[in-house]
Amino acid sequence: MTASGNERFDRSASARLYSRALGSLVGGVNSPVRADPQPHPAFVDHGDGAHLVDVDGNRYLDYVMGYGPLLLGHDLPETVQEAIAAAVSDGPMYGAPTELEVKLAEFVIDHVDSIEALRFVNSGTEATAAAVRLARGYTDRDKVVVMQGGYHGGHESFLVEGDVNERTPSSAGVPQSFAKETIPVLFNDEQAVRDVFECHGEEIAAVLTEPLLGNRGIVTPVDGYHDTLRELCDDHGALLIFDEVITGFRVGGLGCAQGKYSVTPDLTTFAKIIGGGFPVGAIGGRAEVMQRFTPTSEVFESGTFNGHPVTMAAGLETLKYAKANDVWGHVNDLGEQLRTGLQDLVEDYAPEYTVAGTDSMFKLLFTRERPDEPSGHCTSGCEQRSDCPRFETCPKTGADVAAGATDRWKRVFWPAMADHGVLLTPNQFESQFLSNAHTETNVERTLDAYQEVLTT
Ligand SMILES: *Cc1c(COP(=O)(O)O)cnc(C)c1O
Repeated sequence: MTASGNERFDRSASARLYSRALGSLVGGVNSPVRADPQPHPAFVDHGDGAHLVDVDGNRYLDYVMGYGPLLLGHDLPETVQEAIAAAVSDGPMYGAPTELEVKLAEFVIDHVDSIEALRFVNSGTEATAAAVRLARGYTDRDKVVVMQGGYHGGHESFLVEGDVNERTPSSAGVPQSFAKETIPVLFNDEQAVRDVFECHGEEIAAVLTEPLLGNRGIVTPVDGYHDTLRELCDDHGALLIFDEVITGFRVGGLGCAQGKYSVTPDLTTFAKIIGGGFPVGAIGGRAEVMQRFTPTSEVFESGTFNGHPVTMAAGLETLKYAKANDVWGHVNDLGEQLRTGLQDLVEDYAPEYTVAGTDSMFKLLFTRERPDEPSGHCTSGCEQRSDCPRFETCPKTGADVAAGATDRWKRVFWPAMADHGVLLTPNQFESQFLSNAHTETNVERTLDAYQEVLTT
């Protein structure tokens, strides 16, 4: 095992496993982003706190954190482990209700203002698909408005690209008819969404958005954007759905991103953190809307594994631990330290780049334009402050992020960071996360790695 960033890590055991995996798994992986690392992904042996150890024994400081679920890092606290073990030994699942799912639902309802009732499912994709069906059933309308570059999982209604005038499926296998019902608009562009409501207001069942774009770099909302969405939905009888699959219990602490941005959506989707590292999804919202699901009403939703006891135990104890130990205080402080350090580096070495993120999310975006003013910028991640000298050039949409130096990021920058033992998400678009297991020393080491990589 090598510890310094000067020699390349030996990844030969991973190479052999990847070669073998290509013989049995499509593309050698079970989710496409895992194949992004070049020339091949590192296969994991185990996690260790904030670190990940691969099958060659290389140790990386991990900021992927499972793409978001691992708020507490790779080692679960004893209370979480015990709850999981108890649920497993009681029998893995039943197809009948348990107290655990009631407790997790009550926890979410107690802390997130807009939520009066929940339905647990098994992934974020299932949650957003069911939320849209619910909105369509409730409003008796078919069209949904989504954000260009927003991500809501792999479901037909969201695999659509383009704009109000011309749109097409973004994946093979999706019938053209889905593109008729899904209207993508530019995130942060109030006029664009106003125009869509002007043309189609009577047909729109819902606007579905992430509170911040978390899968296209990190793009936070400009002041007032969500209020505009809320108003338009109210004026036209459409539902506002917040996809908090990444931001739920990550941004805004216990109140989630809707609390941080002071917006009350009609429906919210959760996943990732609320499953404590196990497969999960949830739809929550106003009781009057939620009651339209089966069995109380006519919008079909069902699942063998819904409310899985092991997941419910892991999610509940994770959230209870995080609340009792002020985990959000810790991870948000580290996020601030990391983004502040990155902003200093950017001003010195790469003024065209943009530091993005909030709370415990961060990303260095390889934007191309230098600001005229060298100082006075947002100090710990782009806040879309209108008096920031970068405001005109900082990314406001998914397309702005995609217009950056994405190949440089993926093919040059990411491997160099990995060779310094820092594991980032392997492309310009996916967010990175701090966990409760990360320390100030880890952050300092990470900033050193960024500095070395940015200056060589
Ligand atoms: C990850 C993610 C999803 C999809 O969740 P899965 O559990 O991967 O199906 C949906 N929406 C957002 C915002 C996400 O980040």
